[in-house]
Amino acid sequence: MVAIGIDLGTTYSCVYAADRTGRIELVRTPDDRELTPSVVHFSGSKVSVGFDAKEMMGEDPDNVVVGIKRSMGKDHRQEFGGVAYTPEAISGMILRRLAEDAALVLGVGISEIQAVITVPAYFGVAEKEATFAAARIAGLNCLELLAEPAAAAYAYDAADPAAGSSLVFDLGGGTFDVAVVAATLSGPPRIWAVDGESALGGLDWDQRMVELLWNKIEAVVEDVDDCRYDDEFVAVVGAEAERLKRELSVRESASGRFRFGKARFGITVTKGEFEAVCRDLVLQCHASVERVRRAAASLGAPPVARILMVGGSTRLPMIRDELNRMFDVPILIGDPDKVVAQGAARLAGRLAGSSAVHALSGGDRINLVLPRSIGLLIHSSAHPWREQPYVRHILKANTPLPVTKAATAVSTIFDNQDKVRIRLYEQAGAVESEDPADNRIIFDCEVSGLEKAPAGTEIKVLISVAVDGRLSVEMTDGRNRPLSMEAFMEGTLDEGEIVEQRQAVAGLMLST
Ligand code: ADP
Ligand code: MG
Repeated sequence: MVAIGIDLGTTYSCVYAADRTGRIELVRTPDDRELTPSVVHFSGSKVSVGFDAKEMMGEDPDNVVVGIKRSMGKDHRQEFGGVAYTPEAISGMILRRLAEDAALVLGVGISEIQAVITVPAYFGVAEKEATFAAARIAGLNCLELLAEPAAAAYAYDAADPAAGSSLVFDLGGGTFDVAVVAATLSGPPRIWAVDGESALGGLDWDQRMVELLWNKIEAVVEDVDDCRYDDEFVAVVGAEAERLKRELSVRESASGRFRFGKARFGITVTKGEFEAVCRDLVLQCHASVERVRRAAASLGAPPVARILMVGGSTRLPMIRDELNRMFDVPILIGDPDKVVAQGAARLAGRLAGSSAVHALSGGDRINLVLPRSIGLLIHSSAHPWREQPYVRHILKANTPLPVTKAATAVSTIFDNQDKVRIRLYEQAGAVESEDPADNRIIFDCEVSGLEKAPAGTEIKVLISVAVDGRLSVEMTDGRNRPLSMEAFMEGTLDEGEIVEQRQAVAGLMLST
């Protein structure tokens, strides 16, 4: 058995392995790269993943999928070659590729691999279920999902009680997560609060650079529309944008050379110009950091003593400058695009039974929190003036995990009612709201076969959330006898669909 940690990123993925002594090591790809682009290309009955797929973005953009992580937990099917693929299936192809590559490099079979896969702390129930489904579709044994900031804390050794409280700032390609992780004297370290934006990342910075480039191109070419309608040229501008962005992380100005027809021209962008057009993006990060800092403080977390930088986009100087203005604490930046995989591997090594418990300093697992409030949809008969159903939040955001059988009760409305429908919702926005429109349904079930009883008979709903965020629900009657129910998790695939997607993926020989 080999334990690996997989950072399944929006733009890039990374794999580390843990050996028997608990030591972790980067698993390079068979073509000797550190990261694999989380990109999938479909061509006929073949699928390619990684750099090959990324290269097809210019040539065959319609058959390339990027940023699938943003669709996890949503029913966004995409059709290629007459087959509709779910986000789970596409993500499963990336996982399959990572697993096959790791197996090859480590000299083991895929069935001998046990993985911890990381997910953003802000992922809700549906997104996590979808990630589990992706692993199953890939035929990969997933031991546990791990929140990315917790992985970072493991990697930076911030789980050491002596290390105090850390702000984990993770700005990757497509998602932004921020969390306060702190050690306590009385118990294991914990994640006090999480916040973030599910659609904010390096891709947005790229987009700003693209706009900046077009403005400059417009000033030097005669007919900019000709350029804009040229797919190949548009793709070149996109690729140059990311390169220039990276260059501006270490230089005051950066230039690109472009060719269109007979015209050749150079474009120069200064760091100041780029920072000016990205200011609002930085302010979005600022707002999340403020919110998480306040949420953690109100729960009694010790003040932030250091900032752990995660994600390739934390190399942007404008991000470090903003955090330096906000905090007077050291900012640690190591291998920002690899720390998440490093932490995941440490946990994987430990879960897989590696003898080296010291792999995680501090000894204890980091306690996690629920990222979003979970509540019941209530149709109130006791309060007839409340005509509209509303969401009563039972478990509040930032509640420590695991939650074991948190009990709440609902009552029947009619005499001899034999069925009741129970729906759980999860807070969708940054703040909790009773309005169902501000929440997302995550669990829907019908309890049937209730014994004849007068209206107002109680039914107990027991909600559990595991450390990795997986939800389970049980119902009992007033005498604690389990009730039978038919339930499904919203936005997740049922067993039949997983098998179906697995076959569809297996049928497409991944080109190696
Ligand atoms: P994710 O986990 O979302 O896949 P990563 O942590 O791998 O993302 O970060 C990828 C992002 O980091 C990309 O948007 C990339 O352009 C950006 N990035 C990488 N290096 C730099 C750099 N030197 N300066 C600015 N951005 C960078
Ligand atoms: Mg990442």
